[in-house]
Amino acid sequence: MSSSREDTGSIGPSRTDGEGLCFEVAVAAPLEKSLTYAAPLETDPEVVQTGSRVLVPLGNRVVTGYVLARRPRSDSEDRDQLTLRPIIDLLDAEPLFPASMVELFRWVAAYYHFPLGEVIRTALPAGLSRESGRLLRLTPAGRASDALLLDPRFGKERWLLDLVRQGRLEVQATGRLWKKPAIQRVLRRWEKAGLLVVETVLREDRVRRRLERVLDLPPGLASLVKTDQEPETSLETIRDATAWKLGRAEQTLLLHFLALRATLGGRPVPRRELNRVYRGTSRAAASLIEKGILCEEEVRVYRNPFGEPPPVQERPDCLTEEQKQVLAELIPAAEQGGYRPFLLHGITGSGKTEVYLRLTRTVLRQGKGVLILVPEIALASQIESHFHTRFGEVLAVLHSGLSDGERLDEWQRILAGRARVVIGARSAVFAPLDGIGLIIVDEEHDPAYKQDEGLLYNGRDLAVLRASMHGCPVLLGSATPSVTSYHHARQGRYHLLTMQKRVAGRSLPTVEVVHLGREKRLRPDLFFSDRLIQALQENMEQRCQSLLFVNRRGYASFLLCRDCGHVIRCRHCQVSMTLHRQQGRLVCHYCGYSRDPAILCPGCGAGRLVPLGLGAERVENEVSQVLPHARVARLDSDTATSRKKYLRLLKAVRNREIDVLVGTQMIAKGLHFPHVTLVGVVWADSGLNMPDYKSAERTFSLLAQVTGRAGRGEHEGRVIIQTHQPDHYALQQARRQDYEGFVERELDLRRELGYPPFSRLVNVRFSGVVESQVRKAAARAATFLRERAAHVDVQVLGPAPSPLAQLRDRHRYQVLLKGRSTSGLHQLCSLLLRQRDRMCPGRVMLKLDVDPENMM
Ligand code: ADP
Ligand code: ZN
Repeated sequence: MSSSREDTGSIGPSRTDGEGLCFEVAVAAPLEKSLTYAAPLETDPEVVQTGSRVLVPLGNRVVTGYVLARRPRSDSEDRDQLTLRPIIDLLDAEPLFPASMVELFRWVAAYYHFPLGEVIRTALPAGLSRESGRLLRLTPAGRASDALLLDPRFGKERWLLDLVRQGRLEVQATGRLWKKPAIQRVLRRWEKAGLLVVETVLREDRVRRRLERVLDLPPGLASLVKTDQEPETSLETIRDATAWKLGRAEQTLLLHFLALRATLGGRPVPRRELNRVYRGTSRAAASLIEKGILCEEEVRVYRNPFGEPPPVQERPDCLTEEQKQVLAELIPAAEQGGYRPFLLHGITGSGKTEVYLRLTRTVLRQGKGVLILVPEIALASQIESHFHTRFGEVLAVLHSGLSDGERLDEWQRILAGRARVVIGARSAVFAPLDGIGLIIVDEEHDPAYKQDEGLLYNGRDLAVLRASMHGCPVLLGSATPSVTSYHHARQGRYHLLTMQKRVAGRSLPTVEVVHLGREKRLRPDLFFSDRLIQALQENMEQRCQSLLFVNRRGYASFLLCRDCGHVIRCRHCQVSMTLHRQQGRLVCHYCGYSRDPAILCPGCGAGRLVPLGLGAERVENEVSQVLPHARVARLDSDTATSRKKYLRLLKAVRNREIDVLVGTQMIAKGLHFPHVTLVGVVWADSGLNMPDYKSAERTFSLLAQVTGRAGRGEHEGRVIIQTHQPDHYALQQARRQDYEGFVERELDLRRELGYPPFSRLVNVRFSGVVESQVRKAAARAATFLRERAAHVDVQVLGPAPSPLAQLRDRHRYQVLLKGRSTSGLHQLCSLLLRQRDRMCPGRVMLKLDVDPENMM
C-alpha cells in the first residue's frame, strides 16, 4: 500500500519539460464530462499518452482516469495556469487501449447517457481501477489516552478494540465504519481532538500481471547450443566454450536444464519447472549464474485461458455451393476494406462457421485483425474450438468464464499485437484490437448481446458502430436474424446473404406440434405426451440420441399450498421461489436468495405444499421413470458449474455415452451433435407470456435454434414441440420452419403498434427501497417528460410498476419513451438527466435503458 498523496491543488515548482501540454482525462466517476489536467510533475509527460491510465485529483479525492487526448495548452489556459491541476501519477508503462477507441467510447457515453469514465472502466478488464480509501491511525496522544475505550457508545465494539490494540485500522474496515454517519461523526471528533488521523491512501489494483523467473543461456552460449543435440553433447560445447570447471551438482542441473530447454524449443526454462526435476536448483543455479553460464530474468507470462483445451475440429475438404457464393461476395469486401454491413441468414447446419473461418484467414493475410462476437455461452463454445484449432496462438478469448487475471492477460496480448483474432462475448466488442479488418457477430439475434446491468449496451449494435468507425466490413450471422436486422436488410441498409441448405445435402428435421391442453384433460399430471414418450423410446431402440429442452432450471418453479393457495415467494423480490430438489433448497432465480423448503405452508400453517411448474431437474427425473434403461444427463448451469465439467458432459454426448440429454438454453445454442436425431421441447409457451413486444420473436428463434440441433449428422431429424397455444403464429411458423413468414407477420404487427424497428424506445427506470418515493418520482418524471415530449415527437407511456415490481428489496417503476427518431429521444433524456436530483430526491435511483431488450 502506498502512502498518502494528497494533492496540493496547485502546480508547484516550475518545470521545463511538458509545460506546454495538457491532457484530457475521463475519470472513473459519475461525471458527464471529461476534465483537463496539466502534465504530471514527476513523470516524463512524453510517456503519458492517449489510452494511459493515470491518477488524478478530483475534489479532495484521488481517482483513476484515462487519458483521451493530449494537446498544447492554449494561451488563455497558460494565463490561468494555476487553476489546472497536474496528473498525479502514471499507473502503467503502456497505454491500456489504442487511440482509435476514444471515438467509440465517446459515442457510447453519449448514446447510452452514461459517464464517459465509467464507460471506459466497464470496457477495460475488471480489477484495474485504483481508488482512494481511508485508514485510521492513532496519534501518540490517542495511544496514551483512555478516552477512546471509555466512549459510552462504542467502548465495547470490536473495531475500537482493534484500533486501540494495533494503533491503526485498515482500509476495508475503515470503509465499513465510514458509511455509518453516527460513527463517522465520532471519528471526526476524535480527529479534531488530535487522538487519531484519517489518512487517504490508494488501494492497489486487484489484478496483477503474472511474472515468472526463467533461466536461460547467455546469448553467446545460446547460439552455440543446438536444441536437437543430446544434453551431454551440449554440455561438452559449454565446457569447451567457457573453460570453467563444473561441480557435480551444477553439472546435473545443467543437464536437466538443457533437456528441458530442448523440449521447449530453445526457449528459456521457468525456474518452477526446473525445481520439479532437480531438487538442488537454487544453489546450483546461483553458482552457474555467478560464473556466467546461465542468466536469470523475470518475464511476463500469460495465463492460459483455455484450461482444458477445446477439442480439435476437423476442416471440410471443399465448400458447399452456397458457402462459395457467400464468400465470393464477402472476400472482395474484406480485401477492399471500408465499412460494409452484411447480414448472413443461414439456416442451422448450413455451415456458417466455415464461412467465418475462411474470411478470417483472408483478413489475417492482409495483416489486419478480426473480432468475433458470440453470445454469452457460459463456459466454452464449439465455435471457439474451431478458431482455436485453426488459428492457435494468434487467438485470444474473452468471456465471463475467465478469471480476472486471465482476462487481463488476454487483453495485454491483444494490445501487444500478439493476438490478432479475438473471440468473445458481448464485452469483447471493446477489445483493444487495433487495425481491425473485419467484425463478425454470430447469432446476432441473441438477447444475450444486451448487457443487463451497469452500462446497458448492446454488443451487436456496437459491433456495427465500431466497424463503421474503423472502416471495415461487419458480418452479422444467424439462422433467425433479429426482426430489426432483417428489416434493415430489406431496406437495403444491410447487404443480405442467404444459405438455405444444410451441408452435405442434409435435410431440416420434421417438426410436429402437440397440443398439451387436449392431452392433459385425460392425464392432468402429464409432462410428456404419448407421442413424445413413444418417439423417445423408438429413438433409443435405434441407438440414436435425444435432446429435451426446458427453459427453466430447478425442479419446480413454485411451491403451492393445496389448502390456502399460498405460493412461497422470495422475501426480497416477491417472485415465486424455485425448488431445487438435489440441493434441497428453495432458490430465487432473480437474486439468488435461498432457504429451506418448508414442509407445511407458511401461509396457513397447516396445508401441504405441492411442487408445480417444471424445470430441468424434474424433467430429468421423469425421463428416468419413463425410460428406465436410458442413460440420462442434464446440462444446465447447475450441473455444468465449471468449464471442465461442461466439456466432460459434451464429450460424453459426443461419445454416445448418453441417450437423453435434458437441458436449458445451454443446449439450444450452437452445439453440433451428429447423432442427435430427436429434439423434444417440453413446454414451448413459457416465453410467450412475457409482458413485452419481443416475446414472439424470442420464442420463434429459440424454437428454431433448438430444432436446429436435430438431424445434423447422417440421419434425419425429428422435432416434437409441446404447447398449450398451438395456434399462436410463432408456433405455427416454427412448425413450418418458415422464417420469412414469421418476420412478415411480426413486422406487420410492430408497424401497427409502432414498436421497433418502426420506433425507438427508452425505458426510464426508477427504483428504491421506499415504494411511495419511487412511485412519486416516476410520476413526477412522467409529467415532466410529457410536457416536453410533443415538441420532439415522442410518446410517453406510464408511469407503471415494472413487471418485476420488486427486485432485491427495491421497488421498481418505469416510464417508457417511444419516438420516431433517436434525436428527439436523446434530447428528452438529456433534459431529464439534468433534472435528476429534482426528480429523484431521497434514495430513488434513475436509470435509462436505451433500446431495452426486455421490459422486466
Ligand atoms: P451453422 O453454424 O450454420 O449451424 P456449422 O457451421 O456448425 O453450421 O456447420 C455444421 C457442420 O457442418 C459442422 O460440423 C461443420 O464442420 C460442417 N461443415 C461446414 N462446412 C462444410 C462443408 N463445406 N462440407 C462438409 N461439412 C461442412
Ligand atoms: Zn429474490
